Amino acid sequence: MIYQLKTQSPQATNTPSVLMIYTGGTLGMVFDRESKSLKAFDLKEILRNAPEMERLDFNLSILPFEKPFDSSNVTPEIWQQIARFITVEYDSFDAFVILHGTDTMAYTASALSFMLEGLNKPVILTGAQLPIGVARSDARENLITALEIAADRIQGKPVISEVAIYFNNRLLRGNRAKKSESSQFNAFDSENYPFLADVGITADYGFPYIKPHEENAELNPKFGMDKNVIILKLFPGICEKMIAKILKINGLKGVILETFGAGNAPTEDWFIDLLKEAIESGIYIYNVSQCTGGRVLQGHYETSRMLGEIGVISGSDITTEAAITKLMFLLGQELPREEIVEKLRQPLAGEMTV
Ligand code: ASP
Repeated sequence: MIYQLKTQSPQATNTPSVLMIYTGGTLGMVFDRESKSLKAFDLKEILRNAPEMERLDFNLSILPFEKPFDSSNVTPEIWQQIARFITVEYDSFDAFVILHGTDTMAYTASALSFMLEGLNKPVILTGAQLPIGVARSDARENLITALEIAADRIQGKPVISEVAIYFNNRLLRGNRAKKSESSQFNAFDSENYPFLADVGITADYGFPYIKPHEENAELNPKFGMDKNVIILKLFPGICEKMIAKILKINGLKGVILETFGAGNAPTEDWFIDLLKEAIESGIYIYNVSQCTGGRVLQGHYETSRMLGEIGVISGSDITTEAAITKLMFLLGQELPREEIVEKLRQPLAGEMTV
């Protein structure tokens, strides 16, 4: 159910309308004395603690999840639900803000960036490191600025026309972001892509890096997501029997192979043979670096040359969060193999630079 929180006077017909979707996360949590831990709470807590929302000069409506959740419990089914909410309300609102826990915000932002093909309006995720009811909370600033950025327009057009994360004075491309900090307020970074905005007294937008607004783009949402994927992180000492077992999991369709440095891996025969066998059986193996900055360059070192030769697909500078959601998304579209391989190599929604 959508609640209308703020409506401008009927004279202000040109005022943007923002829909805020509340999913949960620390921002709206309260301390539960019984369990002595933070628990998701309902929308009232947010509204009570952010009276500033009353002073915003645009229309604001709220769509709360019936049961707000800690984002560690997010699932592809929830991404589908959010994508459906946005699709259904797409023509009724100019912008969308999603309140979400920080733990998996980068996964949700990445998934939505792929599912909402043709998106031409702002979808801005935000949250907080401290609950909104705590005096020192970062929630109010994140919430209010995310809403203002969502409503921001230049010559009648939205400034942002993509999925982004606003957090601690920075706007980041959603599918480039990573949660890098769990105690400081600057929870997110995007090492391989410049910030879309630095926010102080005003928002200083990085226009060359923002996806341009396309006048006639039409939303063409795709909801399919396939969960038959896994992330396999390499480490010195990883052994044959473990990898062999993982690659033979019944139903496995895709693997994010988290490699060392610029996409490097052991060159031992057993390792290469196991990967080769998996690829020949139809499994997609996507090479993503364990480093947060830099890119996979298959063939640059002897230790990555074979990967390219046997058909491991380079993820270039993609994050693990974007890679796993992209793989689920592409597998969910049931495309021919060559098309999936090609789409893994190329950016779908600005998530990588090749
Ligand atoms: N565990 C919380 C969540 O992701 C953390 C947060 O919101 O910052 O939902």
